[in-house]
Amino acid sequence: MPTSRERREQKRIGSLIEPFRVTPGARVRLPKDFDPGYRGDYIKKGDAADALARGVVQLAQYQDRLAAQSTYAVLVVLQALDAAGKDGTIKHVMSGVNPQGVSVSSFKVPSAEELSHDYLWRYARRLPERGRIGIFNRSYYEEVLVVRVHPDNLTRQRLPASSLTGNVWKRRFREINDWERYLVDNGVRIVKLFLNVSRDEQLRRFMSRIDIPEKNWKFSVADAREREHWDDYQRAYSDVLSSTSTDWAPWYVIPADRKWFARLAAGGVILHELMRLDPRYPKVGPEKLRELEEVRAVLTAANGSSAPHDGREPQPAAAASTRE
Ligand code: AMP
Ligand code: MG
Repeated sequence: MPTSRERREQKRIGSLIEPFRVTPGARVRLPKDFDPGYRGDYIKKGDAADALARGVVQLAQYQDRLAAQSTYAVLVVLQALDAAGKDGTIKHVMSGVNPQGVSVSSFKVPSAEELSHDYLWRYARRLPERGRIGIFNRSYYEEVLVVRVHPDNLTRQRLPASSLTGNVWKRRFREINDWERYLVDNGVRIVKLFLNVSRDEQLRRFMSRIDIPEKNWKFSVADAREREHWDDYQRAYSDVLSSTSTDWAPWYVIPADRKWFARLAAGGVILHELMRLDPRYPKVGPEKLRELEEVRAVLTAANGSSAPHDGREPQPAAAASTRE
């Protein structure tokens, strides 16, 4: 059971992220349905500094409990157009967590080997194991986004003719929803974040990648060319959000024109899911407790009062084990 303080926090974060959740079944039309410039009650970055720092600490604590309990995995799906801030969001949100508990997988143009398999194959291979957080920096949603906007990608998948009849995208939405449901049923919780950047802000960020020498390496001509398909992507994303936000794996549309707000909101959604899971440190049984007491006695007898300890008053192992 969560403590009352944890419950209060969960409620506070729940109301912060609620406006970003895509109601399952709702018809989404970008750009008009979600404001990329939204920042709630925060005016400037400094106003959110405390909340950002606290979020990083809380996430680290929950991740430690998730790893100890080792029952659930958390998959974070991160989708966005170029320069929306995926990399920076991962860097910030995960800055406090133990690197051993997290894996980040980036998906680029598929290799020849990947193209020789069904389209979900390469994503399934990167799923996090129990106790871990896996971040997909781009994901299987590219299979209904870039592949849809540039259909030559679909040709390269060499599907049989029977798989190309009817509405390919509608069928893929169904397959993705089914796959996600299967994962959730098997202990993989899915957090889906779309970082929603505006057209103007994307242009500003591209310009700063050209203007600032330290950012030059981030600029890609291909990204600039992709911008010409802005409206196609907005339509494709609208359809994804409308068709694949489900009760078991809902989408969150994160306002991304201000990087600090995007980090706060994205971290909030991940933290909220961990709070809902409420992982616990496993308690050991009476036999193990007896064993611990025996070992304590042996160690103390052998080393006398010089035996190092953690600075806490010695307590019976049973009482110590229930301490958080
Ligand atoms: P970036 O994430 O900016 O390094 O770029 C990765 C590139 O790989 C993007 O242009 C994506 O659109 C592209 N990409 C990712 N997944 C796929 C896919 N399944 N099929 C085709 N292109 C993809
Ligand atoms: Mg790119």
